[in-house]
Amino acid sequence: MIIGVPKEIKNHEYRIGMTPSGVQELTARGHTVLVQARGGEAIGLSDEEYGAAGAELVTSAAEIFARAEMVVKVKEPQAEECALLRPGQLLFTYLHLAPDPVQTQLLVHSGAVAIAYETVTDDRGGLPLLAPMSEVAGRMAVQAGAHSLEKAQGGNGTLLGGVPAVAPAKVVVLGGGVVGVNSARMALGLGADVTILDKSLPRLRELDGLYGPALKTLYSTKANIEACIAQADLVIGAVLIPGAAAPKLLTRAMLGLMRKGSVLVDVAIDQGGCFETSRPTTHEDPTYVVDGIIHYCVANMPGGVARTSTFALTNATLPFVLALADKGYQRALKEDKHLLAGLNVYKGSVTQQAVAEALGYDY
Ligand code: NAD
Repeated sequence: MIIGVPKEIKNHEYRIGMTPSGVQELTARGHTVLVQARGGEAIGLSDEEYGAAGAELVTSAAEIFARAEMVVKVKEPQAEECALLRPGQLLFTYLHLAPDPVQTQLLVHSGAVAIAYETVTDDRGGLPLLAPMSEVAGRMAVQAGAHSLEKAQGGNGTLLGGVPAVAPAKVVVLGGGVVGVNSARMALGLGADVTILDKSLPRLRELDGLYGPALKTLYSTKANIEACIAQADLVIGAVLIPGAAAPKLLTRAMLGLMRKGSVLVDVAIDQGGCFETSRPTTHEDPTYVVDGIIHYCVANMPGGVARTSTFALTNATLPFVLALADKGYQRALKEDKHLLAGLNVYKGSVTQQAVAEALGYDY
């Protein structure tokens, strides 16, 4: 199969859909991989590395879309990329169609076959192609919080790990899923005093088993949240109710319970945020202050560490890319119900129930 990897063109997107090692796996199996020149340059993946792995370097995205049978990307196709898609061509990337009627219409109109990373499932009920980005965001939330606690950033001047004879910072993590456990792990590693709250008792039991007494676990109630935030230096919002907007666990009035200069990191901002006072921010201007509390609400945190994120994402996508290339999409989809769950648009029809319902397409 001919597989194409264009350079990402969305604003400030530095990730790329395939690393040189992914190219090597495909070319070793006899596939042809077209990579757009300088596609990985921003994250230190040179054309020479891609070439050495067997890629054919191509100067324009137009040539990639014209020749490839499968296009592998990171972000949803921009309008000019949708215009290059051909009927029956396979597109494998993040799509996030439900809130995006324009892109959905363009994909339907293209006649292409579009498989979305974010709706591919696994046997444990998880979303294996979303999880790596949650791992990145969860770990990064602690870095962002630690930095924001510094005086020069407006924070209360607490070092997460403390020092001998000085108490560490108190970190509270709301939600013990993929983001939450990665935040807790990083904060524990830095020596902070960490409490994690969740609505799921089985999950709290699991976390207790994993970390023992080093990690405090608490059931997520308003009273427990209020008691925790009154002591906290850093609060990380990591809750998710699948398919719904994030619940507002901290109201503006509750900020009054917190010490001035404490920090909120709202990782759930991409689902509307779990603090009433959250609004999306960018890597260029990540924080703002409400009632003396620093808010960090960057909606695409993994983009800030695009190199790590590229490797994390492509580790997870590669087995699916290999299956699609080796078998062709018809057989690959037929043999793997989890990959089939990723099929969002098929030759002019919307094939993902939630997307069809959200946007009024027949399903
Ligand atoms: P997850 O499903 O693995 O975990 C969510 C957890 O929240 C679950 O354990 C659930 O029981 C818990 N929860 C639900 N309601 C709760 C409540 N009221 N109190 C306490 N816990 C509650 O999800 P995840 O992968 O960890 O993702 C968390 C959020 O982070 C999502 O909104 C996701 O979209 C977002 N995210 C954001 C970025 C970013 O760049 N900002 C990156 C990755 C993920």
